[in-house]
Amino acid sequence: MRRLALLLLCALMPALPPAGAARAEDPPERLYGHLPYDEAPADALAAFCEGSSNLLRKEVAQVVKVMQEAARAEGVTLRAISCFRSVKTQDYLFYGIAKKRGQTPEERAKVSAPPGHSEHHTGYAIDFGDANRKTDLEQSFGKSPAGQWLLAHGTEYGFELSFPKDSTQGVSYEPWHWRYVGTPEARQTFRWARQLFPANPAVPD
Ligand SMILES: [Zn+2]
Repeated sequence: MRRLALLLLCALMPALPPAGAARAEDPPERLYGHLPYDEAPADALAAFCEGSSNLLRKEVAQVVKVMQEAARAEGVTLRAISCFRSVKTQDYLFYGIAKKRGQTPEERAKVSAPPGHSEHHTGYAIDFGDANRKTDLEQSFGKSPAGQWLLAHGTEYGFELSFPKDSTQGVSYEPWHWRYVGTPEARQTFRWARQLFPANPAVPD
């Protein structure tokens, strides 16, 4: 009888995970649909791209150099027009521009990430451009020679398109914005984005 009572007690006790078992990580909280990212450490970056946001992870710059050579061999100019951005710069691009244009944060978030939530903070994301500068940061870039070259070859070099046409993230189509996932560290950085909102084209795991 005592044995039966003990069994009953055990059955009623809440199931506890075994000691030392790894708990599944919860996805981080998003802001206006965008995932959080840390700024790359300064010593991981070097000047490479155009304009004021010209810093890029050194190992990514090496890869992009090879891509530019390969594109050039096919008669295509591939420009790296915007790379690493600090949280401070992104603060202006999000809240400063929203104020100028009279946009709500929700409206702004469809075309820009809030500070602390841009893939550009990581030093692994690049906005590419074509020889025709009129397509810079425009959806027409997708149809330009550089845009077409990236769609055909970007993944071969470890780059994937973060915000494709069919993204469920609520961010508009950005054919110019590619993230590098060619190293374990880069993949780890984008693990949630890759799981929740897969790129297209995407680098296979
Ligand atoms: Zn971008």
